Amino acid sequence: MVILEQMLTRAARLYGQSEAVVDGAVRLTYAELVERVYRLAAGMTQLGLVAGDRVGLLSRNSFRCIEVNLACSALGLILVPINFRLAAPEIAFIVEDTGLRTMFAEAHYAIHAEQVVTWQDGRALGTGDAYESLIAGNAPVEPRPRSCGAADDIAQIFYTSGTTGRPKGVCLTHGNLVASALDAIVSLELRQRDGWLHASPMFHLVDAFAIWAMTLVGGRHIVTHFSPELFGPLVAAERVTKTSLPPTLLDRIARERSTAASDLSSLELISYGGSPMPDAVYRRCCDALGCALLQAYGLTEGSGFVCHEAVGDNPSPQQVLNTVGRPTLHTQITLVDGQGQPVADDAPGEIWLRGPRVLASYWRNPEATASAFHEGWYRTGDLGKRDRQGRLQIVGRKKEMIISGGENVYPAEVQNVLLAYPGVTEAAVFGLPSQAWGEEVRAVVYGEGEAGDRLREADLLQHCRARIGAYKVPKQIHIAREPLPKNGPGKIATAQVRAQYLLKE
Ligand code: ATP
Repeated sequence: MVILEQMLTRAARLYGQSEAVVDGAVRLTYAELVERVYRLAAGMTQLGLVAGDRVGLLSRNSFRCIEVNLACSALGLILVPINFRLAAPEIAFIVEDTGLRTMFAEAHYAIHAEQVVTWQDGRALGTGDAYESLIAGNAPVEPRPRSCGAADDIAQIFYTSGTTGRPKGVCLTHGNLVASALDAIVSLELRQRDGWLHASPMFHLVDAFAIWAMTLVGGRHIVTHFSPELFGPLVAAERVTKTSLPPTLLDRIARERSTAASDLSSLELISYGGSPMPDAVYRRCCDALGCALLQAYGLTEGSGFVCHEAVGDNPSPQQVLNTVGRPTLHTQITLVDGQGQPVADDAPGEIWLRGPRVLASYWRNPEATASAFHEGWYRTGDLGKRDRQGRLQIVGRKKEMIISGGENVYPAEVQNVLLAYPGVTEAAVFGLPSQAWGEEVRAVVYGEGEAGDRLREADLLQHCRARIGAYKVPKQIHIAREPLPKNGPGKIATAQVRAQYLLKE
């Protein structure tokens, strides 16, 4: 893949003296970063790794995630970024499923792979852990041109978070990820002067796309573990310009005192997506952050966001809230009915995707791959509407749509109504089997602070009745006493809530 062959040499040549990475006390220029990546690549070769081998990465956000990612892409190794919050058997499943050769990991995680290279977080560069020894012990060798693999070769395997069942390995090729990086550069107007905050998990495409995109433009990677208190001070100290965050994390940042106390004037835009953002949260985030908040629609199988509101379109707040913008340059979208026929503007249909960003296959799972596609289109299972100006609105997930008494209920709509109630900070809406209705609408909400403590089911029901049709109003609203379970990128794991709730019945 020509672009990848040139990514590192080009970065060292054009941006050598510019700052590439900031992570706590670690600061690297592009010349230093590229040298470390070449040393690491030489070390990986010495470990016996050859193109096509799977290499795991199990770490909280760290500059090492960037180094391992770039070294793997230079050598044609297949990177498997792993959610560090997974339980030991879940990690073991991924190790086994991918036939992992080597795991790069922060030392304190329970590690199951045969060959591991570890480091201690927070340690200075060159302090003798296995990772630093690998870098120090090998001369920088520029990988041979074309060692990084062809456009159709698998570059990375991301395991879906499993909100809809057992995780599947989504195989993304070099071509997929280059298209995703180029789309990010265009949609987010990334430039060399940008400082990108890697605050969302780098093992997920909510952030991972920015590793290649920012390296291609020679911008600064500012790396941190997600922490709402540190967001404001870090933006101010490092003059962060852009980032991508899911709504739940954005809301936590907006509520933080240190956010209000910090100089956020460098922030230009935040891309958000992964789940809908309630009106109240959007308003709070706009007030607290004072920069453009643009909604994206993305999925692992589409190499990250496939629709994005364009910076230059100057969307109104209502458009930002309700729509996810238009397809990116490398995405084609069609909306279809149950028979696979295109639907009219403003009518709901399933979102199908085509183009260079769409996954090659599920790892060693031909059945899942075959059933995910129809005549070259990837069927997302998401439901959307397109307005006359071509903007897409996400209505919900097909598999989560509730059919109650013959009427379609979209959980996202009910969820938004619940989240508009003062004190409600999290809401999950789903269907449970019902003799009378086929399925009936149920909800679980959680509220923080005093307003959260005052939540009462009767008040919430009344609030819903005044705003949505009777068939959409939950038959029961359970008030949870603790935050709802989330998956990796911080979105509510509805299937888990549903299962917990069923057990309580
Ligand atoms: P699994 O695929 O196992 O169900 P997951 O859905 O969490 O896990 P991801 O690829 O992380 O996997 O999430 C993609 C999904 O997130 C999309 O298919 C869509 O349902 C939802 N989503 C993404 N962006 C938005 C958005 N802006 N508004 C509403 N939903 C969104």
